[in-house]
Amino acid sequence: MSGNPIVIIGSGPAGLMAAQELAIQGYKVHVYEQNKAAARKFLVAGDGGFNLTHSESVDAFVEKYDVAFVQDIVRSFDNKATVEWLSKIGIPTYVGSSGKIFPEKHIKPIQVLQAWLAYLKELGVSVFYQFQLVDFDEANVYLSHKNEIITCKYEKLILGLGGASWKKTGSDAFWVSIFEQKGIKVKALESANSGYNTQEDWNDIEGQALKNIGIRYKNYTRLGEIVFTNYGVEGSPLYYMNRFTRKETFPLNLEIDLKPNMSVDSITEKLSGVGSVVSLLKNKLKLSKTAIALLKRLDKDVFTEPGSLAMAIKQYPIHVTGLRPIEEVISTAGGVSFEELDKNLALYRFPNVHCVGEMIDWEAPTGGYLLQGCFSTGAWVAKAILRHYAIS
Ligand SMILES: Cc1cc2nc3c(=O)[nH]c(=O)nc-3n(C[C@H](O)[C@H](O)[C@H](O)COP(=O)(O)OP(=O)(O)OC[C@H]3O[C@@H](n4cnc5c(N)ncnc54)[C@H](O)[C@@H]3O)c2cc1C
Repeated sequence: MSGNPIVIIGSGPAGLMAAQELAIQGYKVHVYEQNKAAARKFLVAGDGGFNLTHSESVDAFVEKYDVAFVQDIVRSFDNKATVEWLSKIGIPTYVGSSGKIFPEKHIKPIQVLQAWLAYLKELGVSVFYQFQLVDFDEANVYLSHKNEIITCKYEKLILGLGGASWKKTGSDAFWVSIFEQKGIKVKALESANSGYNTQEDWNDIEGQALKNIGIRYKNYTRLGEIVFTNYGVEGSPLYYMNRFTRKETFPLNLEIDLKPNMSVDSITEKLSGVGSVVSLLKNKLKLSKTAIALLKRLDKDVFTEPGSLAMAIKQYPIHVTGLRPIEEVISTAGGVSFEELDKNLALYRFPNVHCVGEMIDWEAPTGGYLLQGCFSTGAWVAKAILRHYAIS
């Protein structure tokens, strides 16, 4: 080794995990971050419950990732590894009712981050703030710091620069232009885990939720909960559909299945009983007020005919006109193309430069899968670098 440090740019969860795994093995690691503080998006993710990973079996877990290679990466540092690591840094966790894993209730997101940063400090990792990556080559990184350009030599360079949502957290996607200037292919960054704008307005049910429903798009169905907003609809089954609808031209139709566990025939039978339509919907089908308000929007002919109403209950159409703006969504799809990366997530054109986290072209739903993907890619690259030095 040259004596130069392993340089990591970006102090998000992906970069910090790579730093940790290398420092544990005694490597000199320097992390540079353009903000005045570390991991701001990691903290934002903690607002309203810090969902760090999910408790399901690893086979079910990895299915949530759209790229087979990322599934392998997640298997190699999985949800169990995340829980063990959290425990090691003094953060006990619990499994919520939905299977999501959180830090124990009295622990705030900032305490998780502080515990992690303290552990990294103990391991000898140096973190430098207000250094912005402006360029890199085979041997050096060029960082803008207080209006000066500073050159740092690196042994290995790890980039964990994030996606493009919530720019104020530092994930400003400035790196895309650096990559493109070098001819490195970056798939356009687009909204992911995004709600939809709809043609319909939902004034009468704004803020209300539909629970235990299905969302269908073509042959894809996802169960969960959705909420009506002043622009359209939000909720995890809708976020799941992003990856399919992104390839299409808007407007297009999604369907709500208000009774996913019942067939059209059995719903029709229930609706053929005695009583007003509303009382049958409420008492026989146990539909919520929100679901009934939705159905009341149907033409009278449909609402009053059991077979037609049963069909509408199974396939209630919503007309979506587009995804939400990238700035406000939870994550971005797109990023560094896998065509540019080898099995160690190193760039073919710069074999000593690795990429980790959301800046790579993979996507996953919320529910802890995004953070897990970032932890896992960070750990993967660290392992690859450790292997490299063990062999050479
Ligand atoms: C509102 C919200 C809620 C979320 N909820 C969840 C959730 O419940 N579960 C879940 O799993 N995930 C959630 N996420 C997603 C998760 O936070 C991100 O996927 C994750 O933080 C990405 O990690 P990363 O390390 O790849 O990048 P980031 O966390 O984006 O970190 C990148 C870092 O790089 C720095 N940087 C960028 N460019 C430069 C440069 N040129 N020079 C120097 N530094 C630079 C940035 O300042 C930033 O600190 C949520 C995100 C948001 C916005």
